[in-house]
Order: sequence, then structure tokens, then C-alpha cells
Amino acid sequence: YEAKFGNHGTHAFTPILNQALSARRELEGEMASALEHGGFELHYQPQCDREGRVAGFEALLRFTHPTLGVVPPSRLIPIAEESQMIIPLGTWVLREACRQNRQWQLEGHPPVRVAVNISSMQFAREDFADRVAEVLEETGLSPVFLELELTESVVVKDFAESTQQLQRLKRLGVSIAIDDFGTGYSSLNYLNRLPIDRLKIDRSFIQVLHEPNSTLPILEAIISMAKNMELGVVGEGVETEEQRSMLCLKGCDLLQGYLFSRPVQANRAAALLQAETLYASAEQEDERIVT
Ligand code: C2E
Ligand code: MG
Ligand code: MG
Ligand code: MG
Repeated sequence: YEAKFGNHGTHAFTPILNQALSARRELEGEMASALEHGGFELHYQPQCDREGRVAGFEALLRFTHPTLGVVPPSRLIPIAEESQMIIPLGTWVLREACRQNRQWQLEGHPPVRVAVNISSMQFAREDFADRVAEVLEETGLSPVFLELELTESVVVKDFAESTQQLQRLKRLGVSIAIDDFGTGYSSLNYLNRLPIDRLKIDRSFIQVLHEPNSTLPILEAIISMAKNMELGVVGEGVETEEQRSMLCLKGCDLLQGYLFSRPVQANRAAALLQAETLYASAEQEDERIVT
């Protein structure tokens, strides 16, 4: 019976599994060749201060497959991690973000920070800080204009190791942000003892601020804790004016989300650096005052 069942299972499911597997392998192949031939791209999403001025950008990986079209990072990153490609790809992202940021500065734009997402596999490498130092050296970007984004789970996994790694990075002069804050299981006590600079409040807490089961108490707690620890706070995924004004009222320093701008190509990002404010309603208010 078992043999029969197993056989049936094999017949029914193998083609589907094989299809998924071969699609994945094909994408992995395309990614490897893109890494070699310059097929990846970075888009940049502004982080605005409370007046709507661009204070920095988050660099986000983009890949357009010849036939599949745009492949989201949520699909790219796991494949890159499984195949170890994340190490060279991650270094490429870091170098490209630093190069571009330095380029904007050389073009005379006001200097801002660029934030780069770092995979747990990159952070776990003993030579990671050396890679970062090399990239800064190569690109000529001052470390004060580079921020590394790590998730909670990555930094609290091995506390002693992480502390050492973060200290190496801090010695270089770069800043550290905790991404998707509130979604992991980090002990707040651990967090207090790590050399970090900023918390990025996860989008899930901001999305439902004005819904019946509001996350407002959690938001208030995160912001006041961050202030007590002398950490900066970024609100992620700000889509509405209501969310923006609530975050500002509660003391959030920086805001990131579609309300201000989607992630855009480097040349569009440069144009945003020249804007007085990305806060559309602030501009409208100004116009109302003028007329
Ligand atoms: P993340 O680091 O939390 O990045 C924020 C994500 O939220 C981005 O998705 C961004 O496009 C999206 N987002 C920004 N504002 C809004 C908004 O107002 N509403 C909504 N619904 N979404 C918004 P994206 O670009 O698809 O990236 C997804 C995740 O993939 C990132 O989450 C990050 O964890 C990872 N990722 C992206 N680029 C890289 C990279 O270069 N290296 C690594 N290791 N991971 C990356
Ligand atoms: Mg991020
Ligand atoms: Mg995030
Ligand atoms: Mg995320």
C-alpha cells in the first residue's frame, strides 16, 4: 500500500516540484550572469525629516528578468542566500550604494546618508567589517554617510559575536539601524547593550494606526524607549497623511514611505535631493498661504 501511495505521490507531484526547482535554478543562473554583467540595479527610497527634507536614502535591490520581468527582492534574496551568491551580491550592493552616494556629493548635491540592507550571512562573516572598510576606501565615501540595516533576529542570535562585529563596524564610523523593529523577538535589555544608532519601526505597526485595533500604544512605547536609549527612530511604510502626522506628533525623527516617494532610480533620487520638501501637503499649504 505504501509503495502504491508513494508511487501515486511521485506521479502526481514530481512534475510540479521539478518545474518549481528548474524555474528557481534558471533564475539563479540569470542572477549569476547579471552579477557578472551588470544586470542588477539599485533603487533609492528617501527618508525624510519632519519637514519633508531628504535626510537619506535606503538602497533597494532591483532585478529585471529577461522574460519574467521585475523579480522582487523577497524572491531574489532567499535564492542568493541559498546559493551563497549573497556574499558577492551583497558586496556589489554595498559598493554601488557607496559609489552612487559619493557621486551625488561630487555633483554638488547636499550630502545625505545611504542605508544598505545587510543579510545575516554577510553579517556572520568574520571579514565583513574589512569588506565595508575596503568599499569605503575604494569609493571615497566618508563612513558618516553610510548606514547598515540589520534585522533584530540577526543581531540577537549570538549576542557576544554580534557585539564584536558591531563594535568593529562602529570603529569604522558607519551607523547601524535595526530594520523591521518590533517583528522579531529581541530582548529589550540586549538591545540596550548593543552599539546601534537607529530603530526602523516595522510597517505593520504604522499600517493599522488608524484602524479599530490600533497599534498606537506599541508605537508610543517604541518611540519613547528609543528616545530613552538615545536612538533615532524611522517610521517605515508611511502611506497616508494621517500616519505621517501621528508619527510626527509622537516624536518620530524620520519618515519613509510611498507618501513621500516610492523607491526610484538614481537620477530621480538626485532630483529629490534638490527638492525643498517631499511633503506634498506642506507644499499645498504654502501655496494656500501665498494665494
Ligand atoms: P526593507 O529593508 O524593510 O525595505 C522596505 C520595503 O518596503 C521595500 O520593499 C520598499 O519598497 C517597501 N516600502 C517602502 N515604502 C512603502 C510603503 O509606503 N508601503 C508599502 N507597502 N511598502 C513600502 P522591497 O524593495 O520589495 O524590499 C523588500 C525587502 O527585501 C527589504 O525590506 C529587505 O529586507 C530586502 N532587500 C531589499 N534590497 C536588499 C539588498 O540589497 N540586500 C538585502 N540583503 N536585502 C534586501
Ligand atoms: Mg531595510
Ligand atoms: Mg524594513
Ligand atoms: Mg522588511
